Amino acid sequence: MSNTLISLEKVSLHYTEDARAGVTEIDFSIKKGDFVAIVGESGSGKSTLLKIIFGLLAPDSGEVFFKGRHLEGPHEKLIPGHDSMKMLSQDFNLNIYARVYENIESMLSNEDLKGKKQKAADMTKLLGIEHLANKKIVELSGGEQQRVALARAIITEPEVLLLDEPFSQLDALLKTQFRADLKHLCDHLGITIIMVSHDPVDGLTLSNKMIILKEGKLIESGSPEEVYANPSHIYTAKLLGNAFVLPAEEARVLGIRTKMNTVMIYPEWVQLKSGWSSRSYLVKEVFFKGFYEDLLLERNGIELIAINQKPGGYEKGDRVQVQLGRYLEFD
Ligand code: ADP
Ligand code: MG
Repeated sequence: MSNTLISLEKVSLHYTEDARAGVTEIDFSIKKGDFVAIVGESGSGKSTLLKIIFGLLAPDSGEVFFKGRHLEGPHEKLIPGHDSMKMLSQDFNLNIYARVYENIESMLSNEDLKGKKQKAADMTKLLGIEHLANKKIVELSGGEQQRVALARAIITEPEVLLLDEPFSQLDALLKTQFRADLKHLCDHLGITIIMVSHDPVDGLTLSNKMIILKEGKLIESGSPEEVYANPSHIYTAKLLGNAFVLPAEEARVLGIRTKMNTVMIYPEWVQLKSGWSSRSYLVKEVFFKGFYEDLLLERNGIELIAINQKPGGYEKGDRVQVQLGRYLEFD
């Protein structure tokens, strides 16, 4: 028995004649319990793909399957959106003058009133908003409202939770908390999560499968470790990390012998050494980042960024030696 939950076969949808306005021949599958991150630059088709998976948009061609069965599009159903899925929308969709517990309880039927109260209480506990249960939504911060919206989305126990840019309203601290909540949901409740984000860190941190979209096409997919460390495309490296991309002739200036057209280096692959040699680099700029520094280095007009793990050791104008621990070559 395969445990494939959702699969897409050559799914295309184009809003206009422009082939980039939409998605083209997307193929991939999702297993139960997966945390999938759909990543790509703005306009690459992420939201379109999510809406197709949910059944809010019907593909022009190709097909989506849920548990091996055709997934119905908006014209085939009375209420668009798959019954086993919930989408956490960016506008939260909360009744802002009602209380937190009312917003959450209203998702459940009245058949079992006691069970309903208990379930809503459990959910507020799970998401750490018990103390807010009697507050009105208008009295909450953006981050708190987002938790209530998440509680509403998952209290009906959907098999799949769809998230479109779930972190866009949160500051850094809340973002970290909310990431932990999602990870918890996926690991402990076994909910399959499909998340769209323009911030690659969200995908790298949370997902077990990343889908990289460029101009409506799926250009590669794999575990975060795979696609980060061994990207098949420079686009992916630039999207996920602080990749430095050098044409072959510039790479040769740095002592890299390559027969390919382009070389890509992440800052953490540039290892710093003290001392002087004929192959030294000039420290052009030091960017303090708290517990580390980015050093902008230059040699014969070619620039590179290196990470210095021990801030304070280098100054603008210093000379350093570097070892390129690793680099990738591209055509
Ligand atoms: P993303 O979520 O990655 O930013 P979208 O899926 O929203 O991208 O959009 C992909 C492309 O399709 C973009 O070029 C966008 O302008 C276009 N697009 C999205 N929605 C519509 C629409 N309703 N009508 C026409 N073009 C659209
Ligand atoms: Mg979008």
